[in-house]
Amino acid sequence: MSLRPTVRPATPQLRRRILAWYQTNARNLPWRKTKNPYRILISEVMLQQTQVTRVLEKYHRFIRRFTSFEVLARASAAEVIRAWSGMGYNNRSVRLRELARIVRDRFNGRLPSRVDELLLLPGIGRYTAHAVACFAFGQRVPLADTNIARVLARLFPGEGPDPWSIADRILPRRHVYEWNQALMELGATICTAARPKCTSCPVVRMCPSAFSIAARKATLHKKERGRNGIPNRIYRGRIIELLRKSNSRGRGLMDIGRGVKPNFSAADHKWLVTLLAGLERDGLIQSRNRGNSVVLRLAS
Ligand code: SF4
Repeated sequence: MSLRPTVRPATPQLRRRILAWYQTNARNLPWRKTKNPYRILISEVMLQQTQVTRVLEKYHRFIRRFTSFEVLARASAAEVIRAWSGMGYNNRSVRLRELARIVRDRFNGRLPSRVDELLLLPGIGRYTAHAVACFAFGQRVPLADTNIARVLARLFPGEGPDPWSIADRILPRRHVYEWNQALMELGATICTAARPKCTSCPVVRMCPSAFSIAARKATLHKKERGRNGIPNRIYRGRIIELLRKSNSRGRGLMDIGRGVKPNFSAADHKWLVTLLAGLERDGLIQSRNRGNSVVLRLAS
């Protein structure tokens, strides 16, 4: 006989338990102590593809260096890329600067609060637009990031693949900020991908998936393109790091190749050129001809 419930959890009870759990278990994160739209946006963009512990190291330094949209908009791309050091996925820093310029020029320096306007800004997808609308502007909108999607899929199996519709259906009328934060927190700390801690979960008695998620390695990652077993994303990061440390004269192709890949050879030349072209397309680096050779440096 199964001890697991088979019916859909009752929404009011589910909300009560998760909100009560959050009140005593929420991590002390700096972006939860502010309603400043600039700071919340920066934290959300940082958290898009970087772990919380790494973001915590960088967040304060970044907002001390760039205190507002105005200051960020005035900075050069190279300055912003340098300040982004260690966060990975450097395109985000360039898009943030572009976004800051749009906010300064078209919105008088104030981030728009409407989801449809936020969605028009560079680097802002559905999740980030909703997160900013909720956390900075107090709007009653659902959220479904990876963590929330996982929690909802386990609590409501068989309700279809769209976590947004479930998030919308169970969204409370009040305490929406706390509710969205609580769902994310539950997914990040208890209902994790590989090893959910069902024994510590506030909704274990209501969850049809409790104790049924076998411990497994996260093998669901897409196969990434790369070289010698190392993903291109890592090489892109290495190139940016190398150019960050270089002077404004920049570096040549071979120099960069040897700096980022052991045993770099002529056979790697075409691959490196493709990587560099991608970085230039993303606005992270610039190339120029010097005599017969090409020199690369961080975008200005
Ligand atoms: Fe996730 Fe387990 Fe809690 Fe269900 S009981 S929500 S599977 S941690």
